[in-house]
Amino acid sequence: MADRVSAGERISRVEARELYTLPLTELGRLADLRRRQIKRAAYGGRGNEIVTYIIDRNINYSNICNVYCKFCNFYRTEKDADAYVLGEAELDEKIAELVALGGTNVLLQGGHHPSLTMDYYLNMLGHIREKFPRVNVHGFSPPEFQHFARVFNLPLREVIVRFKEAGLGSIPGGGGEILVNAVRERVSPLKCDADQWLTVMETAHELGLNSSATMMFGHIETLDDRLEHLQRLRDLQDRTHGFTAFICWTFQAAGTVLKAPTAGSYEYLRMQALARIFLDNFPNVQASWVTQGGSIGQVALKFGANDFGSLMMEENVVSQAGATFRMTLEEIRRLIRAAGYEPCQRDNWYGLIN
Ligand code: SF4
Repeated sequence: MADRVSAGERISRVEARELYTLPLTELGRLADLRRRQIKRAAYGGRGNEIVTYIIDRNINYSNICNVYCKFCNFYRTEKDADAYVLGEAELDEKIAELVALGGTNVLLQGGHHPSLTMDYYLNMLGHIREKFPRVNVHGFSPPEFQHFARVFNLPLREVIVRFKEAGLGSIPGGGGEILVNAVRERVSPLKCDADQWLTVMETAHELGLNSSATMMFGHIETLDDRLEHLQRLRDLQDRTHGFTAFICWTFQAAGTVLKAPTAGSYEYLRMQALARIFLDNFPNVQASWVTQGGSIGQVALKFGANDFGSLMMEENVVSQAGATFRMTLEEIRRLIRAAGYEPCQRDNWYGLIN
């Protein structure tokens, strides 16, 4: 099996299952090899010397949501005292702070608000584009788009077209969790199913919007569920080549109603390495230091990741469920250098900035 990975060949789901049993260091070595195969030609041939990061800001435009995922401690109902919907002035203040720091991207996400109109979203996108034309809006998520199509009573494709025309630049892979319906029915029964998640991404890719793909694991799913998730992502990527990156992280339990074991750093590294090997058509893998901390983030760079994610000026969903790691830009750059790579700022599409 190691020979197949060394030769740059694709591995099957059955083979992935076998790889998962390898000693951790061997699995890491193979993931690093795959990263080298995939990044060799990037950045003028310097793809394996560079680790990228992005300066962006998570902006949760609203915390009102009627989906009640069991792993989420972020949502509020409309009646809660701390429920909110951001207005333009608050948005402007947050994005201006981002721009002052050299940021290029906003990750704009909310819950499934039951009654915001399409005009609220289109006006928000148009406003950001007009006021901050150099900032990319990496916005919403497949479950939000399915929700919009239902609430606005419009075909999904038309909703995405309208959002793109208004200024949406790309779509984050939020709400992927595990793309297996038996799992989704238990952890997020009111959220869109696996096919619907993939349909949003396929439609967006067809319309020229790139997206990322995610996986949240370490709760009730099995290894086979995780492999099914990876298989579905790889199959879609074969058709569209619209995913820019894969990011996985472990379920953060604090304050959530989901009673499930959480995976530790050992399993995180094992899973990320396996994903890097299996997802041979994904150009980038991000390390998740937000849930694992800076040191494991550094180790993750030797386990297949080529990107250190984001400065993340604000992060609400994961942090409210117990992941509290924070870093300054200088720390990010120092950790990347200490791991043996050159830190480079990138844009949303993994192009280098400066
Ligand atoms: S994870 Fe998203 S969809 Fe689920 S309850 Fe939280 S805000 Fe709502």
